[in-house]
Amino acid sequence: MSRTIYVIYGKDAETMTDNLLSAYGLERKIEGKESFVLKPNLVTASLPDNGATTHTEIIEAIIKRLHRCGKKNITIAESSWVGASTEEAMRRLGYHDIARKYDVKLLDIKKDKFRKAEYDGVQIELSESVLNADFVINLPVLKGHCQTKMTSAMKNLKGCISDRSKRDFHRWGLMKPIAALNALITPSLTIVDSICGDLDFEEGGTPVETDRMMLSEDPIALDVLGASLMGYTPEEIPYITIGAAYRNVSTKLDDIDIVTLNKPEKGNAKPKGTTARLARYTDPDQACSACYASLIHAIKRLDEDGGIGRLAGKRIAVGQGWRGKESEIGSGACCKCAKHSVQGCPPSASDILSMLKKL
Ligand code: SF4
Repeated sequence: MSRTIYVIYGKDAETMTDNLLSAYGLERKIEGKESFVLKPNLVTASLPDNGATTHTEIIEAIIKRLHRCGKKNITIAESSWVGASTEEAMRRLGYHDIARKYDVKLLDIKKDKFRKAEYDGVQIELSESVLNADFVINLPVLKGHCQTKMTSAMKNLKGCISDRSKRDFHRWGLMKPIAALNALITPSLTIVDSICGDLDFEEGGTPVETDRMMLSEDPIALDVLGASLMGYTPEEIPYITIGAAYRNVSTKLDDIDIVTLNKPEKGNAKPKGTTARLARYTDPDQACSACYASLIHAIKRLDEDGGIGRLAGKRIAVGQGWRGKESEIGSGACCKCAKHSVQGCPPSASDILSMLKKL
């Protein structure tokens, strides 16, 4: 399995998906494969712009690409969280229209057959349809989570198990079961929707615009990068380190090959909703969305660590409007003239957090 991650920035999810698939060389990878499962995140019936569910443009782009390769046996499969109706989520988000338009199947995994499996003492009921597919494309959203801190590639596979197993996962503390699940099911490909994932919760409501997507064969590598982008170390998300130990792979970002296909677009990112409380410590001027989001995530982490007091009365410069200008604290390559700054275009939240903690 390749550990290369392709990263792309932009606002047009369909074009971004197509460009990621071209960089990956999808056509060669699916030679001889006949049945395809696309596994989005439909945790609840919440629209993608709320920061919880996968943008449907990504799904349409993949289906069109598969059709161009003559691949017709395509199923969109998901199971919303316990207590929520997958059917309702699919209806509200337009999946029935997609199914009709492209002649693809929809599967509510809650109604699927399950195969029992065990890894490291964790017993899980796995979706037969997912196990039987030739090529599974995992389509998570990178976002916050109230119990695991972050959810993205590895945790999205929780939608491939029975509701009974989901309840067991929560009883067992989520971390080891998620790692075990990833030892039992490895998707062929994962494309992370990091367009506007929620800051805190998996059901959305406080989306943070990042205008970014990532693609890789390796869900663990994607989660290592995702954690860094949200200001966490892999050790703070134990399912990453446990899963990496199971596979005997590194959780160091330096050991992962990251190919960035373009630069973030010029923007004028603005705080929304509850992020406004964190935004009072920022001084944005033409900030790209990904850059501004990294800063918001870093301030959030600092707040959670009880260190927000060190920013009292201060505002952190961010954005292209700060190029060549002096400031006390700056975030990103555009703010290199700041007295204290972190480089990167955009920088990760974990790098910004390290800088803020040294102030
Ligand atoms: S460093 Fe400047 S150009 Fe790069 S992402 Fe940040 S604001 Fe945009």
